[in-house]
Amino acid sequence: MQECELLSTCGFFKKYGNSHDFACRGFIKTFCKGDKLDDCKRKDYRKEHGTPPHEDMLPTGQMMPK
Ligand code: SF4
Repeated sequence: MQECELLSTCGFFKKYGNSHDFACRGFIKTFCKGDKLDDCKRKDYRKEHGTPPHEDMLPTGQMMPK
């Protein structure tokens, strides 16, 4: 199984990695531990800004709904 190289430092994964929320599980399965790990918008953000995005930013680039 492939895994994102940022799993241990990613704020999103730290906060939501153990979540049972259906949508979160989907993102993690698709991005953090799935085929789309190179398409994660959180990585783009890091590259662009030099710092990690807010932990509530999803791999799709949207913010977690409150
Ligand atoms: S949200 Fe993105 S950067 Fe964070 S662990 Fe998942 S794929 Fe990696």
